[in-house]
Amino acid sequence: MSTAAVIVAAGRGTRALEAGLGAKQYAVLGGRTMLAHSIHAFVSHPRIDTVVVVIHELDEADYLITAKSFSRKLRPAVFGGATRQESVLLGLVSLSGPEFDQVLIHDAARPFVSAEIIDAVIDGLVQFQGAIASLPCADTLKRAGNDRLVSETVSRDGLWRAQTPQGFRYEAILAAHRKAAEEPAEFTDDASIAEWAGLKVTLTPGSRRNDKITTAEDLRMARRQLAADEALEPHIGTGFDVHRFADGDHVTLCGVQIPHNRRLEGHSDADVGLHALTDAILGAIADGDIGQHFPPSDPQWKGAASHVFLRDAGRRVTERGGRIVNVDVTIICEEPKVGPHRDAMQEAVAGILNLDAQRVCVKATTSEGLGFTGRREGIAAMASAMILLPAAH
Ligand code: MG
Repeated sequence: MSTAAVIVAAGRGTRALEAGLGAKQYAVLGGRTMLAHSIHAFVSHPRIDTVVVVIHELDEADYLITAKSFSRKLRPAVFGGATRQESVLLGLVSLSGPEFDQVLIHDAARPFVSAEIIDAVIDGLVQFQGAIASLPCADTLKRAGNDRLVSETVSRDGLWRAQTPQGFRYEAILAAHRKAAEEPAEFTDDASIAEWAGLKVTLTPGSRRNDKITTAEDLRMARRQLAADEALEPHIGTGFDVHRFADGDHVTLCGVQIPHNRRLEGHSDADVGLHALTDAILGAIADGDIGQHFPPSDPQWKGAASHVFLRDAGRRVTERGGRIVNVDVTIICEEPKVGPHRDAMQEAVAGILNLDAQRVCVKATTSEGLGFTGRREGIAAMASAMILLPAAH
């Protein structure tokens, strides 16, 4: 399944513009623009293959500054139309071709969309043609006329607030949007176009944090929330691992298979680099060690690829509301030569932990012929990880 994301950032929020605040999607929140937060959420999500942003022509210069820090997965922007609906259609059309099975459409003004929300929408598309992030209505709903006099209380039973992302089978939503473009009526979200076209749309969990930032007050609250989030403290962990050589034809180091005249002996794939790094991360969050979570005595880990262990450690960090700042691995061996594989190793580790490449370093050294590594009896690895965890209150 290939999945694209369309981020809609073409609106110019007249109220904000009149107040001299500029287009709100370029308002700065915690050191990056609101749009940059949204782009990051999708570009860094492992199940999203391509991201395209629909922008207003007049915002091109601002957009290019925001887009500069993203390269991987982000396509050149598309100019939007007069309405949100037109802008989405232009974004969808820009993706046409055979390559995408499904598409998630997201409003740039929801900068705090989480990986979990994106996952839930993608999961919803397994069974349905549409899946949208949503929240049950918590407030009592009133209907009132222009005079602001309440005419009735509307039952909130079965009522949900639609958020974005809204995900759809690509061909189905493109066809629905094309058809809707010929209608005089305007639709307020993409799911209503899908519903109108007869597609089955399911609700998946959204969050309050994913609410749209519309007013100056919303923006102030978002900034306060970010400041609270930033009350994180650094934790450092270290890891060390050794595996001995045995007869074989390759070793696996930091997720990369390297042809060699020996192999490393061990219960799993004996990837010393990933084992040391897994322990470094577990150390930083004070959550035991690799042997405790994946006992070598358990036959299910026999021959296991070690990315399973590392990914689990990364999940434990996320679960605690933490994030990895950087990781650093040193491989200690006389052979094989690690240098030619460094880039691939760094890329593999970054991929497993879902980190930007500049947060991962893999390097190697020999031990000058001394000790067990010097005698070519095995390979050692040490690693450290810096992790930000919410400060204890
Ligand atoms: Mg080990």
